[in-house]
Formats: sequence, C-alpha cells, structure tokens
Amino acid sequence: PRASSSRAAVQATNDDASASKLSCVRKGYMTDNYVQYFVRRPVKRSPLINRGYFARWAAIRALLMQFLSQPSSKRKQIVSLGAGFDTTFFQLNEEENAPDIFMEVDFLEVTSKKAMIVAACKEMARHLESPVFAPEKGEISSEHYKLFACDLTDTARLDAVCEKADLDLSAPTLILAECVLIYMDPEASRALLRWAASKFSNAVFVAYEQIHGEDAFGQQMIRNLESRGCPLLGIHDTSTLESKMNRFLETGWKRAVAVDMDEIYNRHIDPVERRRIERLEIFDEFEEWHIMQEHYCVAYGIIDENETFAGFGFS
Ligand code: SAM
Repeated sequence: PRASSSRAAVQATNDDASASKLSCVRKGYMTDNYVQYFVRRPVKRSPLINRGYFARWAAIRALLMQFLSQPSSKRKQIVSLGAGFDTTFFQLNEEENAPDIFMEVDFLEVTSKKAMIVAACKEMARHLESPVFAPEKGEISSEHYKLFACDLTDTARLDAVCEKADLDLSAPTLILAECVLIYMDPEASRALLRWAASKFSNAVFVAYEQIHGEDAFGQQMIRNLESRGCPLLGIHDTSTLESKMNRFLETGWKRAVAVDMDEIYNRHIDPVERRRIERLEIFDEFEEWHIMQEHYCVAYGIIDENETFAGFGFS
C-alpha cells in the first residue's frame, strides 16, 4: 500500500542524511564522532552537497548554542521531532553543552534501530547516565537523553511521551524539526505546530526545510524525491519564506521568522569557519550553490512569557 511504502521512503531520507553527514565529517567540514555508527556503506558526496550539509549543520548548531547559552534559572530542554539518526545529543554531551533533557522521537522502525545501535556502541552509551534500553519499543530512557517511538501525527501519543520524559512544560524548550514537516501532510504538520504551541509556554520551534517548489530548481527537487517514493507533501502549502513564517503565526505562535539558507550562510555563519571549509575542496558550482541554498530555509516560531526568547535567532 502507498501509505506504508511512502513511510519507508521518508525513513530512507534519514539514511541519506546520515551518509551525507559522514561524507562531510570525513572531509573535515565538521566534527561528529558518532554519525559513523549509523552508516553501513560510507559514500563520498559532491563538494556542493557537502557544503550544503555543512551550512545546515552550522545554522542549526548556531541556534542550539544561542539557546543553550541563554541564562536561565530553569532547566533547558531540547525536543527533536523526526530526529532520525541525528547525533546532536552525543556531540553536545561530549562538549559538555548538553541540556538537562534531550528528547527525540521518530517512527518505531527508526527509533528501534537507533536504540539498538546506541546500546551496542560503548562510545555512545558512555554518554548516557543510568540508561535503560528497550529496542523492541524503540526506547532509551536515561537521566538526560530520552528516545521514543511516536508518529508525529498522533498528538495524544506525543502528550504521553512528554510525560514519560518528565518534560517541564514551562521550562525553556527548543523544539527542532529538521527536514521533517515537509514530508507530512500539511494538515498534520499544522496540527503538530498547534499542539506544540498549546503545550509549551516558553518555547522556540525551529524548522529547517525546502521552499520554492514552484520554479525550475524546485520542480526538479520535487521530482527527485518523488521518484524515490517520498513526496514533499508540504511544499505547496508553504513554498515561500512568508508562508513558512505565517504557518507559525496561524498555529498559535507569538512571533515568527523565516530566513533562506543563502542569507544564513552569508550573514549568520561564522566567517572564519566559512573560510576554513571553503578551502577543503575544489568548488566551482557557485551558481548552483546559490540557487540550491535559496531553496532551503530555517523558520522558527516563538512563544514566551517574560521575554525568555528576546534576542533569540537570526537578526
Ligand atoms: N531530523 C533528522 C536529521 O536532520 O538528520 C532526520 C531527517 S529525515 C530527512 C526525516 C525523518 O523524519 C525520518 O527519520 C522520518 O522517519 C521522520 N518522520 C517523518 N514523518 C514522521 C512522522 N509522521 N512521525 C515520526 N517521524 C517522522
């Protein structure tokens, strides 16, 4: 059936992401000592793809570090929706930057694999305090890191996992959906944003995803994914920066911002880092680079009391 094959295809985008991240790590774009454990057959990506993944990693990392470095009397929480095999918790913990709670959710097929891999890997398991592994349920429960199986269209189940993770709904929380909402039905992604807006009182919801499905490059991007059985269900619902921003405002968020990756790369990524990575590989696809980066964006919505998130973000 179509539903389950596209579910498998969207999960495969996660394997793709891990392989691309490992390709970057091996070329020296960034350090991630953990992604290697999630990739069976390492591949070399083109300089264009490597640079794109680096930009994505650096943009998200910049927001995470802003969030984590803000002073707060309460604990900090990160919730990663559709986390796949992302290794951010392990990287942050290695750097001693991990928040009090880092919770990840994804489909059972993905979290059960992740739970098995982490349980079997000393280098990763050593970052967990009093861990309990339940791979058959797709769960890891530990002092700071929690992994749960949950379909993001099931908000009742999301309520249950927030409770299991012992999240404090008023504590500063960064919710991350990196290349996730765009694969969901627009109704479902809006319901998810509405759910998060009503659940948390001091939160920023960060979404990284594609835009501009209407032009030639965008059409090609859609066809590429569709040919792999993985339609970008959300691309027509929110295809511009303005619509990405409005989606937050329409679902209960107080403030919202959307910036494309071309601008983020040029204006918000550390220029020293940029110069360093630009020397790693011969690169001459400048025109394609700008077009590609204009087709990805970071959008975030904020809900806060007492200006918890004043000054947060790309400004
Ligand atoms: N966020 C990770 C990253 O950036 O590396 C993984 C991104 S991957 C492109 C998309 C992930 O979203 C997959 O792991 C997929 O299983 C998950 N996903 C998509 N729709 C979902 C849903 N309805 N419920 C749970 N997970 C979902």
